Amino acid sequence: MSSSNFYKTICNQSPAAMSILDLKGRFIEVNQSLCNFLGYSKDEILGETTALLSHPNEVEITSRKLQQLTSGEIESIQLEKCYLHKKGHPLWGLVSFTLIRDHDNRPTFIIGQLQDITEKVMIQQQLMESEDRYRRLVELSPEAIFVHLNGRIVYVNRVGIKLLGAKNKDEIIGTPSFSFIPDEERDLIREETVALLNQTTSKKLRHSIIRYDGKSLSAITTAARITYNGERAIQTVIRDITEQKMMEEWLRKSEKLSVVGQLAAGVAHEIRNPLTSIKGFIQLAKSNQEFKQEHLDIMLTELERTEGVIYEFLSLAKPNDQVKFQKHDVKTILTKVITLLDSQALMKDIEIVTSLGHLPEIDCDENQLKQVFINIIQNALEASPRKGAVYVHLDQINDDNIIIRISDHGPGMPKDRLKRLGEPFYSTKEKGTGLGLMVSCKIVENHQGKINFSSKEGKGTTVDIVLPFEQRLSHIEEGAVH
Ligand code: ADP
Ligand code: MG
Repeated sequence: MSSSNFYKTICNQSPAAMSILDLKGRFIEVNQSLCNFLGYSKDEILGETTALLSHPNEVEITSRKLQQLTSGEIESIQLEKCYLHKKGHPLWGLVSFTLIRDHDNRPTFIIGQLQDITEKVMIQQQLMESEDRYRRLVELSPEAIFVHLNGRIVYVNRVGIKLLGAKNKDEIIGTPSFSFIPDEERDLIREETVALLNQTTSKKLRHSIIRYDGKSLSAITTAARITYNGERAIQTVIRDITEQKMMEEWLRKSEKLSVVGQLAAGVAHEIRNPLTSIKGFIQLAKSNQEFKQEHLDIMLTELERTEGVIYEFLSLAKPNDQVKFQKHDVKTILTKVITLLDSQALMKDIEIVTSLGHLPEIDCDENQLKQVFINIIQNALEASPRKGAVYVHLDQINDDNIIIRISDHGPGMPKDRLKRLGEPFYSTKEKGTGLGLMVSCKIVENHQGKINFSSKEGKGTTVDIVLPFEQRLSHIEEGAVH
């Protein structure tokens, strides 16, 4: 068998698409697989050059490469090539051409082998298109979007650049992820987002941002895993909530002013009563020309109580701009609050029944918690009938949390009203502001706690506030992505 016949036999028996070309680049043999792949019959191909089968764009490069081969410049070539099916649709093949030499080492013909990679290329193209689409979508998004790969920022959109106050993309790309988050918050955010690489959930994280120009912002980041250029990466969508927080703060302050105003009436009453009794004793002493020891004791107790009430009232009314989280004993806070509300209760002949456990201190802003307790106890007092009772209970529920339960035997609320609690300006009272619960809910949320209302019409209402002993650095909420 001549060498060419030997190759022809191999070619015809091979399940892979194969061809033999002469040194002018014309087909002298093609097998069935190749014919099937391209939709031509053997007769149609034999004698033709690769130009017949190639995509017009690739005719020239293929023939140039083949020339290099036939001239003996190179021994083999491998090309990823686009072909055209006889019916006109494109096909992709990974083709290798090898130069075969005779015994005298002279080039004789070329063997071509072709592997169908159409599906792979199509998938790649689709992927590129979808990445392109993703990129356009993200670029135009009104949200600030970042992509992080191996701990560095690899992508940021226009809104992201603006949010960080950077000059351009280059200032941000390549910097370590989260370098714009203050030191004390960064590690936790990093840990939480890195964990996402092995999860299909998303996370919401609250943190601060220090912009390139030094300004600081409050932000919420939603982080999730994505595939970026074929690799597992983290996408973060950052929302600036600075204004929203300022608004909340403003509302909380206005609400506090209204609480202080309402309390003033009760406090005045609380002060007038002991003053009246002290005045009585003094008048008595004046007419008798003597002070009885027991009268002096009563007067002193009354004065001390008055002093306590005034002190509490003033400390609550004092404008305090800075939210300050410190360790405080909730039992003490509740006791102080009840001192302020006692007179209001007394006016309606309502007893405030307490059962306050002695518990370890918790991380909190004392004045904010006072505001919450005053609001809720005041609502309970307002709902209670004359000669009723309001219950205030404090306990620990597990290793991490305490519970404050405030309940009354008032008229309770129907379900639809219960659902609306916490909405701003929702009030059923003639002089109500409808801000008390909204502000209370916000404060509890800022303390990483939970508030729950349960109520039965005709039976009464119970408000449960659960607060953690310790504040974690940032809020974390998980959600499903898919
Ligand atoms: P306000 O007290 O100014 O009305 P709040 O936000 O404190 O505003 O309360 C909103 C509404 O919730 C009240 O108007 C009332 O209808 C209802 N509510 C709150 N607490 C109670 C309660 N203990 N019993 C019955 N209704 C309540
Ligand atoms: Mg109220």
